[in-house]
Amino acid sequence: MTGEAKLREQICLLAKSMFDRGLTGGSTGNISARTEDGGLLVSPTGTSFGRLDPGRLSRFDAQGRLIDGDKPTKEMPLHTAFYDTRSTAGAVVHLHSCHSVALSLMPDADEDNFLPPLTPYGIMKLGKVKLLPFFLPGDPAMGEAVRGLAGKRSAVMLANHGPVVAGKDIEAACNAIEELEDTARLAMLTRGMNPRMLTEAEQQALITKFDVEWDV
Ligand SMILES: [Zn+2]
Repeated sequence: MTGEAKLREQICLLAKSMFDRGLTGGSTGNISARTEDGGLLVSPTGTSFGRLDPGRLSRFDAQGRLIDGDKPTKEMPLHTAFYDTRSTAGAVVHLHSCHSVALSLMPDADEDNFLPPLTPYGIMKLGKVKLLPFFLPGDPAMGEAVRGLAGKRSAVMLANHGPVVAGKDIEAACNAIEELEDTARLAMLTRGMNPRMLTEAEQQALITKFDVEWDV
């Protein structure tokens, strides 16, 4: 199998795994990954993560022209905003995952640091997550908001909608967005129970030891 054929299979396998575990339902969510030639593979518009077809993924060349496959997700501007501002981005994933959305609805949600410091991996895999305001689906302003972060964040949360995470490759992006949802779930589970958060010193130690990108 060629590198691209393998990547196509991997995108569909990881998407199906997330769908099967209820991380995004129906035809929600979208996913993209860089190809070796500098192009992109993207989930087509209206498709379900449970049933992506490796042979029909939207294929862009390095100049951003659609050269093969079905019409891409309408959230393309969101994906290209990450690739254009983060040279390390090899993949981008967006989900409509229940607990992260729930946390974004809370009146005291922290815009600059969306996830509370509950576990080490939430910090190590995501850095500081930015909470962006609500946008209509497909609004190019979403992409503009990501560009406004100038590549300083690998993960954002779209309020009342869902998270978007960039990673060095497709597996890293999926692992990170799952960590985001798990941390949001813990936050909702322990809400109002006065949970013990990681202290400032513990957070700082993690950031230093694991060389976490932490936008201050
Ligand atoms: Zn969405």
